[in-house]
Amino acid sequence: MTPRRLTETRIVLASHNAGKVRENAALLAPHGIAIVSAKELGLPEPAETEDSFLGNAAIKALAAARASGLVALADDSGFSVAALDGAPGVRTADWAETPAGRDYAMAMAKVEKLARHAPDRRAWFSCALVLAWPDGHTEGFLGEAHGAWVWPPRGANGFGYDPMFVPDGGSETFGDMTPEAKHAISHRAVAFRMLAAACLPPPRA
Ligand code: IMP
Repeated sequence: MTPRRLTETRIVLASHNAGKVRENAALLAPHGIAIVSAKELGLPEPAETEDSFLGNAAIKALAAARASGLVALADDSGFSVAALDGAPGVRTADWAETPAGRDYAMAMAKVEKLARHAPDRRAWFSCALVLAWPDGHTEGFLGEAHGAWVWPPRGANGFGYDPMFVPDGGSETFGDMTPEAKHAISHRAVAFRMLAAACLPPPRA
C-alpha cells in the first residue's frame, strides 16, 4: 500500500520532552511543517505497554492524535545488546531510573556487568517514528544504528548510552563524535529519512 502523505502544515509532537520537541521541530521545519507539543496542549502521557519500539510509538501518536484532532508524530527509542537478547530495548529508559532521577552511568554499568563475559559485543540503537491521524491511520518507520558496545565509556558529547557505543566502521563512540557526525548516521536520522521520503513534502530549497 502506498503510504498516506502529510498535507497538514502543523502537527502535534507526542512528547513532553523539550529536547525532543526542539530536535523534531528542526527536522520538520525544512519541509514546511510546524509542531506544537503535547505538553503545550495539556495532553496526558499514555503508558508504554507494548514490547516493540513501533508499538509504543504508535500508542503515543494515536493517543495524541485522538485527543487533539491533529496529526501526531511520536518516537520511541532505545539501546539493544545482542548478548542480552536485545535488552534493555524498550526498557532502556527504565534501566536508568533511580529515586533521584535517571542515572546513565549506572545504567551503562548494569549493561556491562551482564554482558562482560559474552564474546558477542554487537549492539544497536533503534528509533521508531510513527505518524498518526485522528481517524486512526498510522505510518511507522524503524531506524537502526548498528555497532558494538565498549567499556569503559568514552566521550562527553551526546546523552544516554552514547559513551558505550561505537558504530560499525568507526572507532569513536557516539559520545566522542560531534553532534553533526552522530546525526548523519544515527538511528533517529535513518528513521527520519524514511519518514520524510514516504510521507513529507520535499524540503524547500
Ligand atoms: P525514550 O525514547 O524517551 O523512551 O528513551 C529511550 C531511552 O534510550 C533513553 O534512556 C535514552 O537515553 C536512550 N537513547 C535513545 N536514543 C539514544 C541515543 O541516540 N543515544 C543514547 N541513548 C539513547
